[in-house]
Amino acid sequence: MLINADRLKNTFFEIVKYDTGSNPETETTPSTAKQLELAKVLVKKLQKLGLQNVELNQYGIVSGTLPARQGTDIKIGFIAHMDTSPDVATGPVNPQEQKYLKGDIFLKNGITIKAEDLKAFAGHTILTSDGTTLLGADDKAGVAEILEMLSVLQENKQLSYPELKIAFTPDEEVGRGTENFDIQAFGADLAYTVDGSAPIDIDTETFNAFNPQITITGVTVHTGYAYHKMVSAIEIANQFINALPKDETPAETKEKEGYFHVLGISGSPEKVKIDMLVRDFNYQKARKRIAFLHSICEDLERRWPQVQIEMKDNEKYHNMNEKFASFPEMIDLTRQALEMSGLKPKETYVRGGTDGAELTLRGLLTPNLGAGGENFHSLNEFVSLETMVKCTENLLNIIQIWQKNAPKLKDKIKAASPCR
Ligand SMILES: [Zn+2]
Repeated sequence: MLINADRLKNTFFEIVKYDTGSNPETETTPSTAKQLELAKVLVKKLQKLGLQNVELNQYGIVSGTLPARQGTDIKIGFIAHMDTSPDVATGPVNPQEQKYLKGDIFLKNGITIKAEDLKAFAGHTILTSDGTTLLGADDKAGVAEILEMLSVLQENKQLSYPELKIAFTPDEEVGRGTENFDIQAFGADLAYTVDGSAPIDIDTETFNAFNPQITITGVTVHTGYAYHKMVSAIEIANQFINALPKDETPAETKEKEGYFHVLGISGSPEKVKIDMLVRDFNYQKARKRIAFLHSICEDLERRWPQVQIEMKDNEKYHNMNEKFASFPEMIDLTRQALEMSGLKPKETYVRGGTDGAELTLRGLLTPNLGAGGENFHSLNEFVSLETMVKCTENLLNIIQIWQKNAPKLKDKIKAASPCR
């Protein structure tokens, strides 16, 4: 194949060195200014790779267009996120590589990558941090693979391809990756996020997600005169939480089971805010969960008429699979592309969301592809270079398969596209 593994590794090592941890606490956009340092580097790289209209916009999103080379009439988007998870120490990464044969891999500070996590990688070149920080293969492996794909297209003049739209986004890890993403301006007919794990995976299902917020306003009186007058919002919040089913939490559910999760609770006897996550693969069931929460609120209001309870549903994203039903060729062709890479593709579901799920809900069909990383969001995160090469091959094959098949799917593409 035409992929240059050394160049791919060097690009990856270069970009992981930038600390791009995002931050759920701030209200700035992007959530941390340090993400912009990498964004500026990526602008230069895209320009060098022949992209046009490359820009870093006010929201910290990097985007650009690779004009078609004898291309067919479709515009394909590829998206990866630049930020890394704030769950563990980010920081300037000191990346390491080693030929893996067997056993555990030991990093600094007693951080160990277990042999059982490495079973599939004997003989591979394993890339890690030194153990003091997150590696950030989630999602800089995706960023590096997209850049390598562009390098391959640039240097192999015999390859033809349709117009490609590239975007690198901030703040995915704090759930804000797409809040300022302008689908119309991006201009793709369909897109892929490159932010999953194994190269055989095509993530086509996610949860349906609501982030409800419940605000309880109690009745406060001086504690000395509170007899039969005070109704503490904290006490009502306690009753609310106790009314939730104990076996439907993230800790008690798996596979395709949904849940309720109390994410945060803050306040005083006067006012309490409860932040929740409600998740279910089935949309009707997700709606039922929301109705159930409303019924708890109504019940408490009946019992405590002096108390005010307000609930906002905050619908976040939908299971993508509903949307793919209208254009099943998209998944079929993606499968074929992965088969061209010698893989046995597998449609998978994510017990979470992807940026693609939000984009899909807003009209841009965006399944998620593997970028190769393992042990996400932990100090023992790692990625195999050979796997990254395979993921890049997938991207190139996806371009080829659309280049070949777009003419006969013209009408379907037009119908599926958010910008035609
Ligand atoms: Zn990610």
